[in-house]
Amino acid sequence: MKGLAMKRINEIGWIEKDKPSCGPTDAIIRPLAIAPCTSDVHTVWEGAIGDRHDLILGHEAVGVVDEVGDQVKVFKKGDRVIVPAITPDWGSDAAQRGFSSQTNAPLGGWKFSNDKDGSMAEYFHVNEADFNLAYLPDEMTPEDACMMVDMWSTGFMGAENANIPLGGNVAVLGIGAVGLSAILGAKLQGAARIFAVGTRPVSVKVAKEYGATDIISYKDGDTGEQIKAATNGEGVDAVIVAGGGPDILIDAVNCARPGSVVSNINYFGAGDTLPIPRVAWGFGMADIDIHTGLCPGGRTRMEQLTALALTGRGDPGKLITHRFEGLENLEEALLLMKDKPKDLIKPVVIIDD
Ligand code: NAD
Ligand code: ZN
Repeated sequence: MKGLAMKRINEIGWIEKDKPSCGPTDAIIRPLAIAPCTSDVHTVWEGAIGDRHDLILGHEAVGVVDEVGDQVKVFKKGDRVIVPAITPDWGSDAAQRGFSSQTNAPLGGWKFSNDKDGSMAEYFHVNEADFNLAYLPDEMTPEDACMMVDMWSTGFMGAENANIPLGGNVAVLGIGAVGLSAILGAKLQGAARIFAVGTRPVSVKVAKEYGATDIISYKDGDTGEQIKAATNGEGVDAVIVAGGGPDILIDAVNCARPGSVVSNINYFGAGDTLPIPRVAWGFGMADIDIHTGLCPGGRTRMEQLTALALTGRGDPGKLITHRFEGLENLEEALLLMKDKPKDLIKPVVIIDD
């Protein structure tokens, strides 16, 4: 089969590999929709997780079951399924402690395009299929569902981890697909004012549709000062970090009031340490917590996100700005994610059934 791979740091290309083999609890999936991610960009062009050789990229996909192992009970060949970006080992100690995305090692639930081949191929492998797949409802298109497997799940987690009080104020720093999902998550968690910090007009439009009440441009002045000015000098109850480089944590803490949570869902792709502003952080004593998390995966999570979409709580398809038809256009879609033209939120590649 062919797949789009990271050949080494800074280089991608199509390669030939054997079709993956299916263990007793696994499934092999043929993709119907695949979305490139900013995380693929960190992986390839920043070398964020170290070098990889001929590793097939991609972790956001929806597809058809091509094969299941003999112990798989729930799914069968031909089922149309949503595949979470994170596919934990559900029996692991970390999963049993409630941290399923960190199974066996930090970020261990992130297997696709990290420690095994990902979904940018004719076929890909899913571990523990009964726990790591969910049915694609007839009412949803594969490409819309594909926006939930990482973007919604991660963005919503950003809001869940932020401990937002009902009627509290939230700032979301970075309004790409992840930050936009965090805005919708914050709205669903009961936030009152939601400050979207970003500039791309295409994102500002979706931010408003997803529930942002205030738009702040970080290019027009210091983010912390602008948020403080808009909140009687107090700052917000929760800050969700979904973009920017290392200095974004300075902005985040500058926005936060005592008792708040800075919920980071950003992937810091470079550098050894991250700065925290000492005085704004109350010299380390201001009751401003910094919380981190990796996208939640698994079947139940996907079913819950699907339920939100089907009950009209939000439309994941709003994140899609660029549609491509055919596996052969994956490379162009991924390069678009790298180059981030102004009119881009999220590209998706649709593959015929
Ligand atoms: P994106 O690049 O589309 O969006 C981030 C936005 O932040 C960009 O528009 C950028 O211009 C903006 N930005 C830069 N500096 C800023 C600043 N100082 N203040 C406010 N905004 C600023 O990226 P995305 O696809 O939305 O992903 C966001 C981040 O989430 C990435 O780092 C991605 O790798 C990461 N991610 C994390 C997880 C997870 O599990 N935690 C999952 C998926 C993606
Ligand atoms: Zn992703």
